[in-house]
Amino acid sequence: MSHGEPKRHHVVIVGSGFGGLFAARALKRADVDVTIISKVTHHLFQPLLYQVATGVLSTGEVAPATREILSRQRNVQVLLGNVTDIDLDQKLVVATTPMGLITKSYDSLIIAAGANQSYFGNEAFSEHAPGLKSIDDALELRGRIFGAFEMAELVDDPAVVEQLLTFVVVGAGPTGVEMAGQIAELSRRTLRKDFRHIDPRMARILLVDAAPTVLGGFGDRLSSYAERQLIKIGVEVKLNAAVVGVDAEGVDLRMANGEIERIESICKMWAAGVSGSPLGRLIAERSGAEIDRVGRVKVEPDCSIAGHSNVFVVGDLMALDNLPGVAQVAMQGGRHVAKLIKKRAKGKDVSADFEYWDKGSMATISRFRAVASVGRLRFSGFFAWILWLVIHLLYLIGFKNRITTLLHWVVSFFGRGRSERAGTVQQVLGRTALKRIQTDEWNLPNTKKD
Ligand SMILES: Cc1cc2nc3c(=O)[nH]c(=O)nc-3n(C[C@H](O)[C@H](O)[C@H](O)COP(=O)(O)OP(=O)(O)OC[C@H]3O[C@@H](n4cnc5c(N)ncnc54)[C@H](O)[C@@H]3O)c2cc1C
Repeated sequence: MSHGEPKRHHVVIVGSGFGGLFAARALKRADVDVTIISKVTHHLFQPLLYQVATGVLSTGEVAPATREILSRQRNVQVLLGNVTDIDLDQKLVVATTPMGLITKSYDSLIIAAGANQSYFGNEAFSEHAPGLKSIDDALELRGRIFGAFEMAELVDDPAVVEQLLTFVVVGAGPTGVEMAGQIAELSRRTLRKDFRHIDPRMARILLVDAAPTVLGGFGDRLSSYAERQLIKIGVEVKLNAAVVGVDAEGVDLRMANGEIERIESICKMWAAGVSGSPLGRLIAERSGAEIDRVGRVKVEPDCSIAGHSNVFVVGDLMALDNLPGVAQVAMQGGRHVAKLIKKRAKGKDVSADFEYWDKGSMATISRFRAVASVGRLRFSGFFAWILWLVIHLLYLIGFKNRITTLLHWVVSFFGRGRSERAGTVQQVLGRTALKRIQTDEWNLPNTKKD
């Protein structure tokens, strides 16, 4: 396929996440040409991103190249580009690329641009408490987490050591629980014997949320099980605690009684909220579609936008029937609109409502412990953990990735090792917070010189 405009029905897909990739794959045998435009060259398996951040998995295992996944699908072209404009009247998509602007015309458009981290209007927090949405985020967090232990080994002042070994995870949903659990395991098991000056087991790991429960969506039983397990592995769970300030040196929490509690901590992470990609707002402005309070586009029952039956929004950017922002919604949505497009490309004037099949939700807490909610069934403990392993392995893209991921899990969960601890200078120092600790601005006392 050349850079020229395709002759057949042309489907442009924005995004190479679950929605975009599954739509493209479902168009494999369709009489259409497909162009995927994505800001990144990989398909990211976000559910395992926390394992990249904590040194269990490598980036390649969770982020295979989209081009490679689709290399045998001859009707797809993959382009690296940031879609910045969509002209619904002219049916054009405009993207900025490393080689300048490109414009692609479409017959059908699928927008699967996902969601970003939301700081609820406090964007300044992001500098000190990165979210976990991309490979860059995961590597940055990895640098900050391992970097904090490295820095602590270098200083004598107990207050500074304590500040460096205090980790704050904001948001007690699945990502926050998984991150807090993994940092606890790192400090209590993986790094236990690796340092001479500090005792990594002394690390304080706090999981903070303004809500009254951990894993709110999982129901009372699993929620209290998760909280108990977290406490057991050394995580301090602070609920009804709203984060009202985040700076380089710590976090301010407003507790239920209105008092402000200050936590001195260098390494913080944010897993508290999401907002739809800015493309949602753009589409809403251009089409008159409504967006919900988190910036997702309200779609028609078939996932198209009102007045534009050839333009679809799927996945995390779609607002329909209160469906959650989870991988299955994106995959099934992508497949659904691909099916419609396939039929329409054959000349059939069809429409069908998107029917979501809820396959359940799950979250890990630590090795051997997870919770799973499938229909009316609730599982917790070892069985839920095995279920979690199997399902995540099945959904990982690529045979090679499944094998290497399994090997890494054996090493990390049954042994003590983590093979992905290497960091570049940029990662080890972190973007800003950990860098600052070395500068005069911080004026660290007792920094070891030898
Ligand atoms: C840390 C984490 C853990 C998660 N764990 C789970 C879990 O355990 N189970 C579960 O079901 N779900 C989980 N999710 C949610 C799940 O990953 C998402 O629901 C799913 O990825 C949504 O798919 P999507 O295609 O809508 O968006 P994404 O997968 O986010 O993909 C969006 C794509 O659009 C591209 N893009 C964005 N803007 C533009 C633009 N302007 N131009 C071009 N390309 C653009 C991005 O580069 C990306 O390729 C998790 C999410 C995160 C962040």
